[in-house]
Amino acid sequence: MNIHEYQAKELLAKFGIGIPAGVAATTVDQAVAGAETLPGPLYVVKAQIHAGGRGKGKFKELGADAKGGVRLAKSIDDVRGDAEEMLGNTLVTAQTGDAGKEVNRLYVTDGVDIKEEYYLALLVDRASGRVAMVVSTEGGMDIEAVAHGTPEKITTITIDPLAGFTDSDGRKAADALELSGDLADACVALTGNLYEAFLKLDCAMLEINPLVETDDGQLLVLDTKMSFDSNAEFRHPEWAALRDESEEDPMELEASKHDLAYIKLDGNIGCMVNGAGLAMATMDIIKLNGAFPANFLDVGGGATKEKVTSAFKIILSDPAVEGILVNIFGGIMKCDIIAEGIVAAAKEVDLDVPLVVRLEGTNVAKGKDILANSGLPIVSADDLGDAARKIVAQVRK
Ligand code: GDP
Ligand code: MG
Repeated sequence: MNIHEYQAKELLAKFGIGIPAGVAATTVDQAVAGAETLPGPLYVVKAQIHAGGRGKGKFKELGADAKGGVRLAKSIDDVRGDAEEMLGNTLVTAQTGDAGKEVNRLYVTDGVDIKEEYYLALLVDRASGRVAMVVSTEGGMDIEAVAHGTPEKITTITIDPLAGFTDSDGRKAADALELSGDLADACVALTGNLYEAFLKLDCAMLEINPLVETDDGQLLVLDTKMSFDSNAEFRHPEWAALRDESEEDPMELEASKHDLAYIKLDGNIGCMVNGAGLAMATMDIIKLNGAFPANFLDVGGGATKEKVTSAFKIILSDPAVEGILVNIFGGIMKCDIIAEGIVAAAKEVDLDVPLVVRLEGTNVAKGKDILANSGLPIVSADDLGDAARKIVAQVRK
C-alpha cells in the first residue's frame, strides 16, 4: 500500500526526522492559505500522486514548455498560478505510464536552499532476509540509472535484526555520503530514526530522494516515497485513513474489498483460480497456448458462492475479457459446491462470454454433472492443458 509524500513526511516528523514545513491542499485557495503560513520567500508546489519523477513530468493539458509537477515559486502569487495550472490536470511522469495521473492534491512546502542532494532508502532485502539501507551521493537522480552506470556510487548497509541499527551502521552511511563533523553526527541520528520509523510503521519500502544538506547545515528529507507491508494491515487501523482510493486500480480495489487477490493484466482471457501457485500455472499455460491472461485472480481456499460471484463480476467489468477460464481444485471445498457456486454466479451476472471450467478433486463427477445440467453453455475440461486449449479456441472463434 502506497501513501502520499505529505502523509509520509508527517509520519517521519513524529520520529524526529527533519522535513521542510508544508501544508497539503486540494483547492487553489487552500494552497495559497497554506503558503501564507510558511516563512517564504521560496515555496515549492508539489503534485501529490502515487508516482515519482514528478519534477521532470509533463502536464497533458499544458504546452510542452510548461513546468512539471514540482515547482519552485518565488511569491504567493506564483503559488496561486502554479496551483491553478496543476490542480485537475493530468501529470505524466516516467512512473505513471502514458495515461498519467490526475492531480487532485498539492503539497505546498517551505523552499529549501540546497547545498547537496543524497539518496537514501530502506528496504527489505530478501536475499539476506534483513532490512537494508541503500545510500548514494548521487541524490535527486534516477537511482536505477546510477545503479546501471556507476554502481560503485551505491553503498548497501545490511542491518542485523538482533543488534538493531547501531551507531556503526550510521557511521557507514555517513562515510558513504562523505559527511564529516556535525553533519556525520546528524546522519547517524537521522539514519537511526529512519530505521525505527521503518520498523514501527511496518514499511515495505522507504525511499528518500533527495535527502538534502541545506545551506545552513541541516539534513532534511526533501522527498520521500513510503509503502507499507500489507501483511501488517491488521495491526494498523490508522492506515485506512491514509489510503487514497483514487490512486488505486478500481478493479483491484473492488477485489480487495471481497478479500480476493486480483491483479489486472493486459490479455483477454479472464482467470478464476484457487491458490496463487495454481493461478500462476494457469496463466503460464494460457500463454503456452498462444493467448494472454486478462488477470491474476486467486479466490482463496474457501471459495463461497458469494466470492465466486464477486470474482465473476470483477473479471467481467474488464472490457478486454473475451472468455473466462475457471480452474479450481476442490480440496477443502468440494467440487459440487464449487460447481453450484459457478452456475449460480454465471446466472446472476448474465454471463455473455465463453466459460471453460476445469474442476478436479473431491466429488468431481458430481460437480461436472451440475455444470452439464445447468442449461448454461459451460464447457467442461478434463485437465489444465485441455482447459487452456478450449478457452483459447473459444475466444478465437
Ligand atoms: P520527484 O521529481 O517526484 O522526485 O520530486 P522531488 O520532491 O524529489 O523534487 C524534484 C527536485 O526538485 C528535487 O530533486 C530538487 O532538486 C528540487 N526541489 C524540490 N524541493 C526543493 C526545494 O525546497 N528547494 C530547491 N531548491 N529545490 C527543490
Ligand atoms: Mg524525488
